Amino acid sequence: MSPDAMYSSAEQQAIREDLFRWLDRRLEFGTYEFAREELLGYTYDGVRIPLLDTSRGIRNPREFDATLSIMTSSQGPYDDAVTDDGFVHYRYQSRDGGDNRKLKRAHELGVPLVYFHGVRPGVFVATYPVYVIADDEANRTFLIALDDSLRFFGDPLHMSDHERRYGERMARQRLHQPLFRARVIHAYANTCTVCHLKHPELLDAAHIVADSDPNGIATVPNGLTLCKMHHAAYDRNLMGISADYIVHINDGLLHEVDGPMLKHGLQEMHGRRIELPQRRADYPSKERLDERFLAFDR
Ligand SMILES: [Zn+2]
Repeated sequence: MSPDAMYSSAEQQAIREDLFRWLDRRLEFGTYEFAREELLGYTYDGVRIPLLDTSRGIRNPREFDATLSIMTSSQGPYDDAVTDDGFVHYRYQSRDGGDNRKLKRAHELGVPLVYFHGVRPGVFVATYPVYVIADDEANRTFLIALDDSLRFFGDPLHMSDHERRYGERMARQRLHQPLFRARVIHAYANTCTVCHLKHPELLDAAHIVADSDPNGIATVPNGLTLCKMHHAAYDRNLMGISADYIVHINDGLLHEVDGPMLKHGLQEMHGRRIELPQRRADYPSKERLDERFLAFDR
């Protein structure tokens, strides 16, 4: 394709759909975060279409008439965040022109985009499809809805309390949970803290206590990386972890006689010390472990 050739709108739509399927497949196989290099390497029909722009937050392929993706870096100059209405408030790029024009076009056309949010430098979680639902020219800001359902609200610039609460809840599910998962699993080096299983597709980021701060992105010290089995046992309080980092198994289970999952997967974990993250700042909070341990069913 020559540099000035455009994709037709049908082709652009097909590429967006292919991109979502590409991201879906990665997530199904346990990917929970994306490195910059792999996002730059996405191809459609043999043509490479980088998903990030190396110098700005808005990715506008020349062959597209509307934006393909937007990005907030983990610590960069982008002053964007999810606010308590559940929208990402994405500031206009400082230079007027192509960048903002193609995002305005994405708003007019209602096309779906991908939102990449930095977890740490060069690594992102992906939320998609997302939509530009308002262009707040007075504040030079686009409002980005992280969930399809938010597109059908009344005036996004003047939402009711009910709508804001709903939007906030959606933002937690769609962005904060993937961020929490990426941060916790990375902190524990892709390893179940109890049994050392190392398959991200079989690992979860478990909350120690339910995260009650509706605005806060759940923090790593309130998380544990657990395999599916140990996550379920922890959630049902059949397995506890005390503040001295020791694993406890429910008494009934300890004395039951059954197959290898019970014996090796649960009984032999009793009394073991959990594997801690490398960074001290990522250690599970002793206060939270203590609080949660009260619920453990001895
Ligand atoms: Zn495990």
